[in-house]
Amino acid sequence: MVYRGSGVLVFLAGCALSFRLFAGVSPEVTGGTAEVLLKQADGIKTSNQGEFTALLRRLGDGSLELSQEQRLYLEYLEAWQVAYRGDYKTAITLLDRVMAQSGDPTLRVRAGFTAVNILGIASRYEEAFAQLDPLVDQLPQVADKETRLTGLSVAAQFYSEAGQYDLATDYANKLLSENPVGQGACRGRYFKLEALFKSGQLRSVGEQFRDGVEVCAKAAEPIFGNLIRSYAAKAELDQGKPDNAIKLLRQGYAEVKETHYPPLIALFDATFAQAFWKVGDQTSARRFAQSAIDSGIKNEYTEPLVTAYRLLYELDKQRGDLASALAWHEKYMAANKGYLNTVSAKALAYQTVAQQVLTTKMQVDTLAEQNKILQLQQALGKKAMEASRLWIILLVLLLGFIGFVAYRIKRSQLKFMKLARRDGLTGIFNRQHFVSEAERLLQYCCKSNRDACLVLLDLDHFKLVNDTHGHAVGDRVLRRAVAACQAHLRSTDLFGRLGGEEFGMLLPECSPDQVLARVEQMRLAIAAVSIGEGGAIVTVSASFGVASAAASGYELRQLMTDADDALYEAKREGRNRVNLSTSRGAQLSLV
Ligand code: GH3
Ligand code: MG
Ligand code: MG
Repeated sequence: MVYRGSGVLVFLAGCALSFRLFAGVSPEVTGGTAEVLLKQADGIKTSNQGEFTALLRRLGDGSLELSQEQRLYLEYLEAWQVAYRGDYKTAITLLDRVMAQSGDPTLRVRAGFTAVNILGIASRYEEAFAQLDPLVDQLPQVADKETRLTGLSVAAQFYSEAGQYDLATDYANKLLSENPVGQGACRGRYFKLEALFKSGQLRSVGEQFRDGVEVCAKAAEPIFGNLIRSYAAKAELDQGKPDNAIKLLRQGYAEVKETHYPPLIALFDATFAQAFWKVGDQTSARRFAQSAIDSGIKNEYTEPLVTAYRLLYELDKQRGDLASALAWHEKYMAANKGYLNTVSAKALAYQTVAQQVLTTKMQVDTLAEQNKILQLQQALGKKAMEASRLWIILLVLLLGFIGFVAYRIKRSQLKFMKLARRDGLTGIFNRQHFVSEAERLLQYCCKSNRDACLVLLDLDHFKLVNDTHGHAVGDRVLRRAVAACQAHLRSTDLFGRLGGEEFGMLLPECSPDQVLARVEQMRLAIAAVSIGEGGAIVTVSASFGVASAAASGYELRQLMTDADDALYEAKREGRNRVNLSTSRGAQLSLV
């Protein structure tokens, strides 16, 4: 049986006892479906080892088909079986699998609490406490009364053993509020009294003890009932009333023996021994002390064992048997050390796990905080992005506006520049622009050794047109004459109004012959211009003077002079004609 450990055993043994009640009505192993057999085995697992083992063998021999969930239920029961054999490792492995794989929350929690119990028995306290915490958290979701009772009992027991009496009291109170009567009511009272007693808050033996003993008796919980009695007896001893203690212990001793639960029997024996020692009955004290040693669990340092060794030491010392006293004292010292180690190991395990839980919680909190900061940063980033998007839009709009304004300014600048270069009436170059462009073009032609000719044009008797038909008609004639010339000009030719009714043309890459031919066409075109005005037809003619760069050189001034001379000649010769300069002035000046 799983009779190792001290307080932790109470739970398993308690179960053993409570299940023993059902042992009488446990069904036969024969027949039944897998589900029924599993439930039967569960019902007798702590009370009837023989039947329990037989049922498990039957369920595991392959003759019955088990569902996945039923297989896990069987593993849970098998864990109990191997735990009884002392194979805690296999038991824990089986229970871990049930917890990980079962879809039944009740079975998972049951497996968890069983594992906690076994870990405690195996002195693996840290693992036990680490597993206990999350299990206790799951308890609110567990509806099964039996499982809740087990869970709350295990929690109260473990926290009490770790010296966490406030926590133990909390779970004891939960047991009490959920169970007005029965096992829960008994255990709740026991854990509550134990916490009060161990924390030194309860010294008087009063109504609470009697009530606890009574409720446990009614609930058929002799172990818990007598544990309460043992605390009452200890309280009496503490108050210097050993007679009362003996009385209390005697009331329960027969029942205690019947439980066959070694830790409880040892506890009673040791307390008896103390009480008899106090009343001076050395014989009884020695007998019970020896009995406490014999009835306790072997190789286990428990409080009754420590008490028994110390008493035997005292008894032998008083008797003067110093050699024997020394032997007991040595045993006492070893047992006391072992017992205190176990106690502090449990307290330390609790503190370690609590610390780990706290650290994890702090880490989770820190992560949550970091997450919050990240979210804030993201929100801020989004806002900043929206703001910067707005700024970009504004900037683009501004740039667009600036671009638009700049374009408008440039356009009007160009317009003004164009206006400044053009003649207002005819739209061709004005004198200044014609002169500067002509100089540039002549330079280019000179450098590239290309031909160029300058043509000067003057309308004939234009004053007469103005005088006869008016200035406005004169203007129209001017425009028509310009248009007539433009029809015979290339895009590379320059054409400008030099003043009044006098015009200039610079024709690059043209020989004098070609120029003369084209100018002749212009002359004819102007002569063909006729404007109907007030019933009369206005006609006009023009005289042309041509000078070539080949003859006059590439100096504009010289070309102008020569062309002007040729034009004068044309006028003199009768107007409406083209005259090529014969001047060699430029060439002569070069010589
Ligand atoms: P010629 O055959 O000798 O050149 O005789 P002409 O009458 O053409 O010469 P003149 O230089 O005596 O007269 C030029 C006239 O051109 C004087 C002026 O009234 C006229 N004129 C000058 N500029 C303009 C203008 O912009 N519009 C108009 N309608 N007439 C202009
Ligand atoms: Mg003139
Ligand atoms: Mg004229």
